[in-house]
Amino acid sequence: MSAIEQVVREIAEEMRERPDRGDVASYIPELARVDAGQFGLVVIDADDNVAVGGDADVPFSIQSISKVFTLTLALGRVGDRLWERVGREPSGSPFNSVVQLEYERGRPRNPFINAGAIAVTDLILSGHQPREALGDILRFMQFLAEDSSIAIDEAVAASEQRTGFRNAALANYMKSFGVLDNPVDYTLGVYFHHCAIAMSCRQLAMAGRFLAYNGRNPSTGLSVVQAERARRINAIMLTCGHYDGSGEFAYRVGLPGKSGVGGGILAIAPGKASIAVWSPGLDANGNSHLGRVALEALTKRLGWSIFGA
Ligand code: GLU
Repeated sequence: MSAIEQVVREIAEEMRERPDRGDVASYIPELARVDAGQFGLVVIDADDNVAVGGDADVPFSIQSISKVFTLTLALGRVGDRLWERVGREPSGSPFNSVVQLEYERGRPRNPFINAGAIAVTDLILSGHQPREALGDILRFMQFLAEDSSIAIDEAVAASEQRTGFRNAALANYMKSFGVLDNPVDYTLGVYFHHCAIAMSCRQLAMAGRFLAYNGRNPSTGLSVVQAERARRINAIMLTCGHYDGSGEFAYRVGLPGKSGVGGGILAIAPGKASIAVWSPGLDANGNSHLGRVALEALTKRLGWSIFGA
């Protein structure tokens, strides 16, 4: 067994024993039903070796982790024009904050808070029907993960569509400033559905590999994005990937990472590994509690923090 496999298994066992799990997201009714006792961890290294621990193959709602992939897709379509619509600064506010939009004339501070991700989704939607845009996002995930079984959990999408009043408020507010081009209902429909993509830790770690290896897929050697773009997406994940817990995540884990309220985190150790962890219980900032604890243990034991040993 490799050193990485050993560490991944140890951590998965340690996390199962811990009583402090956090609370599952309750504002999306369908997510409130998820069993908080589950835990999964997968690490894929530069040689495409896969180390798995715990519930590595159980699909969960990736939620905001999808925003990394919609950002990648949107940058591919419109390039740096995207930054006219969305900023690149940490928000220091909750993921669904409304207040900053007023100060910045409807321009969200970054692509990972809800407002920013809705604006990015709107760019992907332009020139397409919602169904086509969603199909493009899903196929991109399937392509990156090399797994055509990845699907949208329709029950989660419907649950969020029924109760996503805050997201509707953000979208309408941005629309009033001309930051969205498409009908608000269309943009929100695509947004809720891409957040409802269900993936396992194994599939997610596979999908994240291009960010760890300078934009290339290590198994095919093919370039997904240019190295500069991968580096820049990693930078935004580091500074904005955990909402107003981004500083704490950098301090404790020391890797670019993106969380979702389904309890997943995708973390990137540049040049070393693509990592996915899942534990549904969240901390006060809406980030996976044990997911963060597990990643802190992993980077410490393997010396993978980008800030040094
Ligand atoms: N779909 C969720 C929302 O819009 C995403 C939030 C998250 O995962 O942090 O509220």
